Amino acid sequence: MEKKLARRRRLVLVPAPAQGHINPMMQLAKALHLKGFSITVAQTKFNYLNPSSDLSDFQFVTIPENLPVSDLKNLGPGRFLIKLAKECYVSFKELLGQLLVNEEIACVIYDEFMYFVEAAVEEFKLRNVILSTTSATAFVCRFVMCKLYAKDGLAQLKEEELVPELYPIRYKDLPSSVFASVECSVELFKNTCYKGTASSVIINTVRCLEISSFEWLQRELDIPVYPIGPLHMAVSAPRTSLLEENESCIEWLNKQKPSSVIYISLGSFTMMETKEVLEMASGLDSSNQHFLWVIRPGSVSGSEISEEELLKKMVTTDRGYIVKWAPQKQVLAHSAVRAFWSHCGWNSTLESLGEGVPMICRPFTTDQKGNARYLECVWKVGIQVEGKLERSAVEKAVKRLMVDEEGEEMKRRALSLKEKLKDSVLAQGSSHNSLDDFIKTL
Ligand code: UDP
Repeated sequence: MEKKLARRRRLVLVPAPAQGHINPMMQLAKALHLKGFSITVAQTKFNYLNPSSDLSDFQFVTIPENLPVSDLKNLGPGRFLIKLAKECYVSFKELLGQLLVNEEIACVIYDEFMYFVEAAVEEFKLRNVILSTTSATAFVCRFVMCKLYAKDGLAQLKEEELVPELYPIRYKDLPSSVFASVECSVELFKNTCYKGTASSVIINTVRCLEISSFEWLQRELDIPVYPIGPLHMAVSAPRTSLLEENESCIEWLNKQKPSSVIYISLGSFTMMETKEVLEMASGLDSSNQHFLWVIRPGSVSGSEISEEELLKKMVTTDRGYIVKWAPQKQVLAHSAVRAFWSHCGWNSTLESLGEGVPMICRPFTTDQKGNARYLECVWKVGIQVEGKLERSAVEKAVKRLMVDEEGEEMKRRALSLKEKLKDSVLAQGSSHNSLDDFIKTL
């Protein structure tokens, strides 16, 4: 008798248009595809992911909107996401209607910042699930910030004090944004904390990393919360870089001694002042350590000379190598890399922990400050550099991590955490089981 092939159930995934959000969403897409689902990725023209050979198993559709391309840069992430949500509210509903003509949809999984999805999904009575690409603690912090703001505003809070029940987060570590006013951040956060009709929340984190925040969320949201990360370790991560990765830095790393290089990268949107870049270069120089530094085009502000000239001025030593964008996961996995100077975006944090690489934390905005606090005070695998960035502070932090016994201890702790994270995504590991439990609900 002819065997009928089981039809794959279709999932629609809606990533937010930012590198740090696209990566985990596409890693999730890959994990779900391996479990037998068909994947449709619905994205806007902003930070558009090209269906490369790595992603050719997925269908890509565009959510129509009429925003000017310059909005992404000019408005800053907060105001941009609020505007995007207003713009896509109706068009996503229409897009979903068209997709449903051809095929049933088992579930729509959307980035917490693409909250306009919820209204469209409700109209068609489709199951919907939120993917949080930030930490569980960042999610809790957004809740707390909205509550504090509603009560008395935030102006009178003492920045250095600890937020009750949120150790080690201080008021100044709450996820405010340098790109937007407090009002704007709170408006955005209210929407991301609102669970609406979502049947569950999946989070790119590991239970053992943030147990108290995870339990807090479970209580507050009152729907299942599944910690299923680190997603980049759960599957062989597809290539989803929006910028071209410069592979020559791997060749350069191949020529360096084991555990001798500090890798420096501030993620996909953080900016640095020219003055800070020069202090950093000078501190690295006097630390006598080898370094690989990612400087994205357009990421240095206040420069009177071109970036090209600035770089020539900075790198007066052959101990340094500079690229515009690196294959970061490969870099962190390289045996020559000893430490990571990072802005502490959540993906960078997980990628570093996953390779047992201790960090120098220089957070700028959003959830980065909370991640840095956890790295320094909870997991004890990071040193935070606060205040004005000066040559001496750079030199001191680099030496503490690369040379001193303190750095050795952090390295040992980081390696032990790496093993825990590896175990969590193996069969019977906490994240592995959590993903299986989630899939059973589909
Ligand atoms: N990344 C990369 N090459 C680089 C710098 C960053 O591939 O040179 C990747 C990195 O691996 C991570 C993402 O970009 O997956 C940045 O996400 P994160 O959450 O760390 O920071 P964000 O860019 O959102 O601030």
